[in-house]
Amino acid sequence: MPRGRQPSKRPKLKACRRCGALVDSKVNVCPICGSTEFTDNWEGMIIILDSSRSELARELQIEKPGLYAIRVAGRVVKRAAQ
Ligand SMILES: [Zn+2]
Repeated sequence: MPRGRQPSKRPKLKACRRCGALVDSKVNVCPICGSTEFTDNWEGMIIILDSSRSELARELQIEKPGLYAIRVAGRVVKRAAQ
């Protein structure tokens, strides 16, 4: 469902360093984990609707539904040992 390209209207998002949640650049406290550390250095975007059923959510250690960055600079994601 294309909505037209509006590159200049793209909302500016930053990623929480602790949990990877993407929030508006005006937000000061992460609504997911309460962290106040954010970075603009992130890649990829994923919407988690049901974290208990998403394998990627498990891999990224996401526990709550929301919008997340797949890669956040400086964030170490521990993968389940297997
Ligand atoms: Zn967070």
